[in-house]
This record gives sequence, structure tokens and C-alpha cells, in this order.
Amino acid sequence: MSETSTKRMEDIVALCRRRGFIFQSSEIYGGINGFWDYGPYGSELKRNLKNAWWEDIVHGDLVGPTGEPVKIVGVDCTIIMNPKVWEASGHVGGFNDPMVDCKESRSRYRADHLMVVVNRQAGEDARMTAFMDGDDAGMEKAGKSLAKYEKTEWSPEVYEIRPYMDLDAAAMARVVGPDADAPGTLTEPRMFNLMFETYCGAIRDEDAKTYLRPETAQGIFVNFQNVVDSSRVKIPFGIAQIGKAFRNEVTPRNFTFRSREFEQMELEFFIHPSEAEQWYAWWRDNRFAWWKSIGLAGDNLILREHDRDELAHYAKEGAGTSDIEYRFPFTAPGFGELEGVAHRADFDLKAHAEHCGKGDKMRYFDQARNERYFPHVIEPSAGADRGALALLCEAYTPDESRASKVFMNFHPRVAPVKAGIFPLVAKDGMPEIADKLHKELRRRFVVETDAKQSIGKRYARMDECGTPYCITIDGDTTGDQAVTIRERNTQSQERVALDKVGAFLDEKIHGDA
Ligand code: ATP
Repeated sequence: MSETSTKRMEDIVALCRRRGFIFQSSEIYGGINGFWDYGPYGSELKRNLKNAWWEDIVHGDLVGPTGEPVKIVGVDCTIIMNPKVWEASGHVGGFNDPMVDCKESRSRYRADHLMVVVNRQAGEDARMTAFMDGDDAGMEKAGKSLAKYEKTEWSPEVYEIRPYMDLDAAAMARVVGPDADAPGTLTEPRMFNLMFETYCGAIRDEDAKTYLRPETAQGIFVNFQNVVDSSRVKIPFGIAQIGKAFRNEVTPRNFTFRSREFEQMELEFFIHPSEAEQWYAWWRDNRFAWWKSIGLAGDNLILREHDRDELAHYAKEGAGTSDIEYRFPFTAPGFGELEGVAHRADFDLKAHAEHCGKGDKMRYFDQARNERYFPHVIEPSAGADRGALALLCEAYTPDESRASKVFMNFHPRVAPVKAGIFPLVAKDGMPEIADKLHKELRRRFVVETDAKQSIGKRYARMDECGTPYCITIDGDTTGDQAVTIRERNTQSQERVALDKVGAFLDEKIHGDA
């Protein structure tokens, strides 16, 4: 993490707290690691993001790759599901330990069995080398390679051993894996099974054990047949869901980026297997364009197609997987995932058909093709919290020339407050006009009135929370029935008729602002 990016992230976190975007959960008790609360402006921002997703995906007028309208319906499923769901999906079973993967050697290690060699005199940026606990030869190899790198001799006086799990995230990024040559190739430790467990009912035994869902996708898969039977959907079609997901992340960090409780916006788009390539490419490009349309338009946003050998087991033979990634201050110059778009083939529907015992009865009957099959799935899966964080990072714009020294450059569609309404002075009928305008607009837009302080201070407050327009009622308003609207970024002003203010905001928010 570079010095400038660290500093900038601190500024963003401070602004989020100061202006009521994001607070630490349970802050008065010292907080709880990996959990965050959204304040008044933050909850509006995140809601705007989720609404934009739902409006464009479920209520939108998308046109598919061959010119046909794209059909998508929504569901809203429970967080706790029958635990068999998680056996079928592959989430239960396997290991229950923190694991790290090495991107260079492709090996996997128990993170709590990894040790590192570190120079006793090591400064903040020192390199470390890892080995497996109990592997004396490995320790010697790690020690000698570090000593060689530091142009000194391997000896217990110079070097000490520490558990890998005791390192913080920044230190982990400087570790050379046991079978690697370069530092930073170990992924962060992840529980192989990251699910939070709980118990349903009064008796806390194995039979009562359930899980908080680690993703919203499985609620969609297990309802596939219900939706087909109860709605008039035909392949190709999608089922969308927005909701909370929980993962007991080993090292929650980077503000809300890796939280233990977060929200996902997931779409499972069901298709005939022969159409996977074209739908995959179409969704990948559509989703990338969507993030741009809500304000991540610069070169901080990239689309990254996965290499074949990085693909999840279910996606190996498929049309592909790509990530939409954002250059967060804490990942810069690298990028962090906002959304994954994957061709999951028929992995999930088949797994549920087998586990629930319905088997082939769960195959979809395609009337047009006169064929029974398990549909394939293209899954665009996005994080609402990472999305909101990217919007905050992108919007943060230092500007020494302004009273606020910073303004939040949100796209009007996602801005928490769309307009501030100010009487220039609190007399001569101006507050009354402001109140009337506020009443007219408030059911359609989030607007705030503010009659106190100098106009400059009022602009500064609105700049800091990213309000795109400030509407001022002045001495001329009674005469010309018009107001002055100031645009946040350019600070330019224009005169707009009082009865056209609603249409003005509508056009800016929903048009190509
Ligand atoms: P990562 O590799 O960063 O852990 P992932 O590939 O496991 O992410 P998915 O399972 O594909 O993530 O989940 C889809 C989306 O959910 C991600 O793109 C991300 O936006 C969001 N997400 C996943 N884990 C977290 C988390 N711990 N905190 C916040 N958002 C998350």
C-alpha cells in the first residue's frame, strides 16, 4: 500500500464517519471487527445503488444478444435455509480451517500451520519467508533464502520465527510462500467453510444446526422450479435477489471491502447450454457498462477475464469467468473485485436435484425445443457494500479552492441528497417559498432545506455529502418566479423557473446527466 493511497483512504474513512455515511458497528462498545453500519447519508447511497440495480435488472428494458427483451423476475429468500442446501452447494464439508493458496506455486496451506522467518532488526517493509510448522528443512531453506536476499548469514541471533497468523494484512503481503520465489503470492487466510453457524429451536444439538447464508445465490437455485411453475417465464430468463450474506472472514479489513456481514446483488440467468457463450459475453459487457453508467466511468474500473487455471471447478469447461474490478486506494496500483460474472454451467441445479432426491424430475422442459434439460447459468454476482465503497472512493475529490476542501462527485442517480433548498436570507417570504418547494419535491426526491448560516457554508455542507444541486430562493424569486440552481462540480449557476425545478431534477437524475 503506497503512502498516498493509505492517506487518502484514511481521509475517506474520516469523511464517512464525520458526514454520516458509515460508522463502525456497535462503536460505543469499541466496535466489532468486520461489521459496519450505514448512517443517514450512507443508507441513502447504498439504497440508491441497490434500487438502480433492481430497476435496471428486474424492471429494466434490456434487449438481449439476439434482439429479444430480457425477462428477469425477483425473489426474496430467507437468510437461514435448510442446512441440506449448503451440503448440496458444497459449502459444508471439507475443511474447517483457515487456508491460504499460493498463486505462484498453486499449493494450499493451513494458515495456522504456516510460520515465517523474519529479521529481528526488521523494519516496517521487511520481507519474510514462510515454511510449514515442524518442517525443519523447510525452516532452514526459508531462513537461508531470506539471509541470501538480505546479503547476510542465516543464524538464530539475526532471525526469529513468528506464526503467520499473527501478522497483519500488510505484513502478510510481504511474505514469500514456502514454495514460491516472489513475495505477496499467498492469498489471505480464508476458512474453507466460512459460514456462521446457529441453532434453530430450543435444543442446541447437531440436528438443530443451521447456517447464516454465505451467498444469496442458493436461495435462487432452490426456488428455480417454484418460479418456473408459478410465473410465465421461459428459458432464457433470470431470477434476481438482493440480500444479506454472512462470511466469517478470517481477516476482515479495508473498511467495508471485506466484511463479515454484507449485501449481495445476485442474478442467475438460466439458458439453454448451447447459448452459454453469447449470453456470457453479453452479461459480462452489460454489467461492466452498468457500473460505468452509475459513475465509475474512469480508468479505475476494469474488466478482467480469468485465466483458465484460475477458474472455479464448476466453470472449467465453461464459457468463462470475469471480474469487474475497481482500483481502491488500498489496492492501488492493483484492483479489487466488485462483481464476478461466471458461467456456472448446470452445477447448482444438478447438485440440488441429486441432493433433494427429485433427480431428473427437476429437469426443465423446453417446449419450443421439445427437450428436457438442466439449464446452464450465467451468474453476475455483485457486492452492494463494495459497490457503495467504490462510489465513495471515486467520488472523493479534494479541492483546496472550496470552503469544504473536498467534494463528493456522485452521479446524481446515486447521490444521497439530490438537492439542497436554501432561502438566501431568512426573511422577505423566502423561507416560505423554500418550504413550499421542499414540500413539493420531497415525495419524489431526497431534498434538504437549510436556512441557517452563510450561503457559502451551506454549499460546503452539500458539497461534502455530494449533493449535485443547490437551489437558492433569492430577492428576485417573488418577482420572476425563478430560482438559481448551482451545479456541484462546475459551481456554475443557472436560473430555472420555480415550476420547472422538479422536471430539471428528473432530467438530471434519470437522463444522461
Ligand atoms: P473475494 O475473493 O474478494 O473474497 P469472492 O470471489 O469470494 O470475493 P463471491 O463469492 O463471488 O466473492 O461474491 C460476490 C460478490 O460479493 C463479490 O464480488 C463482492 O462484491 C461481494 N463480497 C464477497 N465477499 C465479501 C465480503 N467479505 N465483504 C464484502 N463484500 C463481499
